[in-house]
Amino acid sequence: MSKKAETAEAVSPSKMKAAPGSAVSVANADLARAAEPAPVENFFEVHLTQLARAMEHAPMQKHVRLILSEPKNEIIVNFPVKMDDGNFKLFTGYRIQHNNIMGPYKGGLRYHHEVTLDEVKALAALMTYKCALLEVPFGGAKGGIRLHTREHSTSELERITRRFTHDLGNNIGPEYDIPAPDMGTNSQMMVWMMDTYMNMHNLSDKNAQRRIVTGKSLTSGGSRGREKATGQGVVYCIQEWADERGFRLDGCSYTVQGFGNVGSHTAQILSRLGAVLVAVQDHTGSLYNPEGIYPRKLIDYVQTHGGIAGYAGAQAISDEEFWAADCDICIPAALELQITAEIARNLKCRMIAEAANGPTTLEAEAVLRERNIEVLPDIMANAGGVVVSYFEWIQNKRSESWQLQEVDSRLHFMMKRAYHEMRAFARERGVDNRTAALAVALERINTVYIERGVFP
Ligand code: GLU
Repeated sequence: MSKKAETAEAVSPSKMKAAPGSAVSVANADLARAAEPAPVENFFEVHLTQLARAMEHAPMQKHVRLILSEPKNEIIVNFPVKMDDGNFKLFTGYRIQHNNIMGPYKGGLRYHHEVTLDEVKALAALMTYKCALLEVPFGGAKGGIRLHTREHSTSELERITRRFTHDLGNNIGPEYDIPAPDMGTNSQMMVWMMDTYMNMHNLSDKNAQRRIVTGKSLTSGGSRGREKATGQGVVYCIQEWADERGFRLDGCSYTVQGFGNVGSHTAQILSRLGAVLVAVQDHTGSLYNPEGIYPRKLIDYVQTHGGIAGYAGAQAISDEEFWAADCDICIPAALELQITAEIARNLKCRMIAEAANGPTTLEAEAVLRERNIEVLPDIMANAGGVVVSYFEWIQNKRSESWQLQEVDSRLHFMMKRAYHEMRAFARERGVDNRTAALAVALERINTVYIERGVFP
């Protein structure tokens, strides 16, 4: 059984609950540490296996394989923050910098109660390959703090974010390592990070630090189209897949796991093309309506109720029924390792678009191959977020503000180009899309290592 879906990239700040704060403090203790989560399946090992498969098809120098097998830097900070009730709590924060041969480290920051070092390592590595595949001139990184966002008030989250930013110090920088939103974080948190970082620097060049993070609000230096970018990219990718096969999206059915930033935007954009959302799952439950669920109405409902449970426009179903729902396209947009072999055997879809990072287990992948269910892999399908983060970074650097149309058309071009590079590789070598996507990225990285060599 999979864990209940959390959502990829958090919902807007207005939806952050002003929780009583007391829920996180441990009785009779001023300093409480979040408990270590129990290990489930190792995401980093899964990633290494998939990488090894891709390396069989991408000629690689031995030393480059070696370099890529571990992150360059693993930063772990334990830091105290005062809670609303006056008690202190100790948090563990990670920033994993996987590789920067292609450009500054880049990647999101995850706030989740099950964040582990190995999870962040896998996510950081995926960023390296995502950027290389999309020709975004960045390397790969990821960060995270182990916490339950729903159990903290807005002011606690602000203090946690600011203290973490402070403690990362010069381990991040606008030309060195640029964080962004991921699951559990949003534009408000990015603005707190930016403001903290700016205040840690010279008054005279404060404004040059703006691009220390991406995914900011539009008013504080964000880009048009960044909020919906991951979802928009998922849909561009699905459109290419559909065009390639003469498949009509208008009237087709789909399901979404996770209804946060990524899941909800994907659904909204896909339904506008005439596709019908028949089932949704989030951390509060699963819903089904073969006549179609209106994403916009569900988004409004989630804003006031904190989850999809109880929504009147669909019937409640079990998690097993969600995964077995009849549909053309299944879109996991939540946590990693959600689609297990058992779920893969019951899926009724013909294609999976991985809006989440690493949602499919190795065993499940084998089942899907056997059942001829195609997968649009994470580093391709969900790359829209980092692509528009790159646009935001460029706009900040040049003091420009692009129109939405420009952002979308540039995003479309880059998604399309990478998609067809991946597909051409898959066709020519007779490999699956994930292997092809990773191999295209690996070839690029390998070339740069050959050209530059390794210091000294
Ligand atoms: N967290 C997103 C991802 O996994 C976006 C990262 C970014 O914009 O840097 O791709």
